[in-house]
Amino acid sequence: MNLPTPKKPKFVILDLDGTLIHETLFPQVLDLMKALKKAQHHLSIASHNAYAEFFCKRYGLDELVDHIIGQETYPDMDKTPHLTRIAELYIKAGIIVNEEDMILVDDRLEVINDTRALMPNVSYIHVVSANGMCKNDIKHLIT
Ligand SMILES: [Mg+2]
Repeated sequence: MNLPTPKKPKFVILDLDGTLIHETLFPQVLDLMKALKKAQHHLSIASHNAYAEFFCKRYGLDELVDHIIGQETYPDMDKTPHLTRIAELYIKAGIIVNEEDMILVDDRLEVINDTRALMPNVSYIHVVSANGMCKNDIKHLIT
C-alpha cells in the first residue's frame, strides 16, 4: 500500500486590494486563509498599498499572516521587491524558502506577468473574480 506523499508547505503570498479586500473584506477570505493555515502553508501579504498593514489589522488578517509588505513601487507593477523581502524575513527566522515553493496570488495580470518575467520559478495564481480570491483559486492547496 502506498501512502500519499505529504504535501510540502508553500509560501503563499497574497495581494491585498482586489484579492482579499475591496472597500471592505471579501466575505469568504477569512475562511480561505484559515484553510490555507490549517494546511500548514506560510501566509504573507505583498501589496502596493502603502496602508496594507493598517488594513490587515482592521480586518484581522494580521493574525493569520507572518509578514506584511506594503509599499508603493509604481510605476513598476512587479512584486519582486516584496517577494524578495518576504523570503529574506523567513530566512532570517530560520525558515528555508526557495523560489519554487513561493506562490503569488494576485488579481492583476500585469503584476503577475511583470513578476514572472523576473521570478520564473515562483508559481502564480490569477484571481479573476471581481469578488476576490475564491475557493476554486486555491483548492489544490487546501485539499
Ligand atoms: Mg490587487
